[in-house]
Amino acid sequence: MVREANGLIDLRSDTVTKPTAAMRRAMAEAEVGDDVLGDDPTVQQLEEVAAQRVGKEAGLFVPSGVMANLVSLMTLTGRNEEVIVGDESHLYTAEVGGLGILGGVFLHVLPNLPDGTIPLERLRRAIRSAVYTPKTRVISLENTHNRCSGAVLPMEYLQQVGALARERGVFLHLDGARIFNAAIALGIDAATIAQPFEVVNFCFSKGLGAPVGSVVCGSRAFIQEARRTRRMLGGGMRQAGVLAAAALVALNEMVERLAEDHQNARLLAEGLANIRGIRIDPARVQTNIVIFEIDPATGWESLRLQQALQQQGVLLSLSGTRLRAVTHYGITRHDIERALSAINALVSGAHAPRKT
Ligand SMILES: *Cc1c(COP(=O)(O)O)cnc(C)c1O
Repeated sequence: MVREANGLIDLRSDTVTKPTAAMRRAMAEAEVGDDVLGDDPTVQQLEEVAAQRVGKEAGLFVPSGVMANLVSLMTLTGRNEEVIVGDESHLYTAEVGGLGILGGVFLHVLPNLPDGTIPLERLRRAIRSAVYTPKTRVISLENTHNRCSGAVLPMEYLQQVGALARERGVFLHLDGARIFNAAIALGIDAATIAQPFEVVNFCFSKGLGAPVGSVVCGSRAFIQEARRTRRMLGGGMRQAGVLAAAALVALNEMVERLAEDHQNARLLAEGLANIRGIRIDPARVQTNIVIFEIDPATGWESLRLQQALQQQGVLLSLSGTRLRAVTHYGITRHDIERALSAINALVSGAHAPRKT
């Protein structure tokens, strides 16, 4: 395992993972060609294996998860159309509004519940096609749900939304950046989770540890069109096999170990729940993302706690008043214990800042 020499416990995101020794070897030895011309055998192999893992006909390798969402949704929609998304979705909160701005697509935003779902009835009422509204073309869901503490959407819910989408003639898209975290948490195949969706994209560069890349998966005809969208967005890559090689190792070797990240997140969540002044519902933590807040009555506020922890080598991310810790390859149980004792010492101990 590649450990940081400086002893940092970096819980900002699972994107901070570095390629494993096996990935670096595979990258060095990858057979490559010009993928825009269709010549890269390693990219082709990755696209096939990835599509098969989520039960789709074909896949398309893209540089990032943001581009994967753009390629998926711009290919499914046209002007004067809309995509229904949750107000806590990555698509709506963290992608610079690109789908609206670059795609000319209207984002019809509905509130997410804390479990990452959008109530079925809300979706049913939102689908529209009147002459004075944009036409609803796609419902986009996120699983696991990043900003909802890594929530796993229940399979029954996905099937209900799938039935609604079919009944109303709209496409269903999954931002499955962490679909394997959902699969591991439920103990089922990613293909089962992906089944109700026409189009699914997922990341290799989060908990799976690859340095770069995501994949868009769907029918063969869809992927043929998606290839043009990727080209338009500047995402056609040449000897991309060096990247695809690492992603193949990620798929083959790094999925099962996500269970360890989930155990570590649970340990962290339960430890945090035992610290007076930390607000968290540990029951919400099903995968590798832990979101919590600090009660201002402790004398702390989130930014100062984040900074104080940083000085002790524990890195968290901050969004508004919410602190976020993400477990991943490279974070051990021992790291979690160290992080917990640092947080406990600050919040419960003599270090609490004087109120001003
Ligand atoms: C990280 C993430 C993305 C985007 O991935 P990038 O690699 O940052 O482009 C998309 N959706 C979700 C839910 C994510 O967590």
